[in-house]
Amino acid sequence: GEPGRFSYARAEHPTQVACEEALGALDGGHALLYPSGMGAVTTAFLTLLAPGKRLALAEGAYYGHKQLFDHLGEWGVEVVEFDQTAAPPPGVDVVFLEAPANPLLTMPDFGAAVGSGATVICDATVASPLRVRPLEQGCDLVIHSATKILSGHDDVIAGVTVAREQALRDSLHLTRRLAGIVAPADTAWLVHRGLRTLEVRLAAQERSAEILAGRLVGHAQVGVVRYPGFSFMISFDVADADAAARVERSLEVIENATSLGGTKTKLEGRHRWEGDRIPPGLLRLSVGLEDVDVLWADLVQALAHA
Ligand SMILES: *Cc1c(COP(=O)(O)O)cnc(C)c1O
Repeated sequence: GEPGRFSYARAEHPTQVACEEALGALDGGHALLYPSGMGAVTTAFLTLLAPGKRLALAEGAYYGHKQLFDHLGEWGVEVVEFDQTAAPPPGVDVVFLEAPANPLLTMPDFGAAVGSGATVICDATVASPLRVRPLEQGCDLVIHSATKILSGHDDVIAGVTVAREQALRDSLHLTRRLAGIVAPADTAWLVHRGLRTLEVRLAAQERSAEILAGRLVGHAQVGVVRYPGFSFMISFDVADADAAARVERSLEVIENATSLGGTKTKLEGRHRWEGDRIPPGLLRLSVGLEDVDVLWADLVQALAHA
């Protein structure tokens, strides 16, 4: 007879739909889940771009986006990087912002991007929908790596798009279904469960991040300190790449690991991954739920080796 709504899980499955309804409510749009943040970006790329189109990408934003678009260079989409605190270059089809940028923590000029007339995507992974809602600023599409603060426990890889218009959501859904960029039910369940504690986790991590950012500003081994004034992420500079490596290896409580937004505090030098697009001594600190004075004591003893 006729197939029911959940006839084949590559199209839709109930655990995923429940998670998407919660995510859509948080951002004020139509959400879709993916098996990674990069799966979400790839689906948006395949849906919104084509050979001959131009994409303006925020410079100093998530390095994986730049790597992906470089890798897809043969597909004939021209990618130009631009300073997202000002207007995007004229004549681009899609603008890709990040609020705030990981790891340089700049905030986009939403008005300038939206006023350009291009389709505007904003990666709001570091802000979460509790701090920045790009759809309310006029953006067309929000992207999150749900691997980070949304799930919050470093135990799942997942991604999200949230579209302002149903029609864009439907186009993305068609790409996702045909390409098979589909999150399984256990991923959807973990992301959905993480949302229950998002508000309290973020508030606690943010409180500690504010305190640590303030203390880092006065530290003798520390140069520039970047903190956007909200959320859990700080980046700061020590003298050079060697000093950054010595700080990484001296940590006792804070994990020297990549990723961000989880309950455990992590610190990582980013120069080994990103090269000269960022300062050589840049350390990215994702503040978790440990006691703030324990974290500060660990930073102080590690920075003594800088
Ligand atoms: C981690 C991250 C991504 C990629 O997400 P994955 O879940 O690792 O695929 C995209 N954007 C930002 C800002 C990130 O931090």
